[in-house]
Amino acid sequence: MNYSELFSEIYRAFLDAVFPPRCIFCDRVTSLENGICKECRKKAAPIEEPVCLKCGMSKKNCECKSKSRFYDGLCAPYEYDGVVRKGIHIFKFDNRRDNYRFFSVLMAQCVRKRFGSVDFDIVISVPATEKSVKKRGYDQSALLARGVAKELGLLYDGNVIKKIYETKSQHFLSNLLRRGNLTGAFEVVDKCKAEGKTVLLCDDVSTTGETLDECSKMLYLAGAGKIYCSVIALTQMKE
Ligand SMILES: [Zn+2]
Ligand SMILES: [Zn+2]
Repeated sequence: MNYSELFSEIYRAFLDAVFPPRCIFCDRVTSLENGICKECRKKAAPIEEPVCLKCGMSKKNCECKSKSRFYDGLCAPYEYDGVVRKGIHIFKFDNRRDNYRFFSVLMAQCVRKRFGSVDFDIVISVPATEKSVKKRGYDQSALLARGVAKELGLLYDGNVIKKIYETKSQHFLSNLLRRGNLTGAFEVVDKCKAEGKTVLLCDDVSTTGETLDECSKMLYLAGAGKIYCSVIALTQMKE
């Protein structure tokens, strides 16, 4: 351990003493294991195996036949529901930025499990506009991507793709409008950084897959070789 690592360990212990750690899902101060309390550990719904490596869903909910995607694979440890949904909401909207440390470890574990044989060149995140980062005070996807990169011993680059303009929340739009809403919203800043690369693209959640796919399309057009996506949780399209 070098000085800067030692310093950050001491600082972390100090923070834990002043602000007792809370469960990343329910936000309670209680006994935790890797950031998660015993109850939430039971309640959090993992994506049920066997899993489709392309859409990331449980094979029984696979949607690959009805939807073509630019990305080569997507993986998430959890379903976007219940305590997981609550935890991601707290992380994004209640200024619990530090929770990225635990979420990114869960994402990295999932990447290792599903895409263990893939040789990634670079880790990037779904970009947000400067305005929205300023408003929230942090870029949650970038924090997650940095954490995932660190955990997997890979390089994170925050200057590959950017969001040019603000879009409406995908959540409230019909299926038809979702795609159009994002068209042209993302731009690859430096093609050299994408060309021929195997990319790991990170975001917090994937509810429709459209945001990841639009970013993947732009990376693909910029010459990226393979594109894999990693999120904390995804919405399963159940029949
Ligand atoms: Zn909990
Ligand atoms: Zn599938």
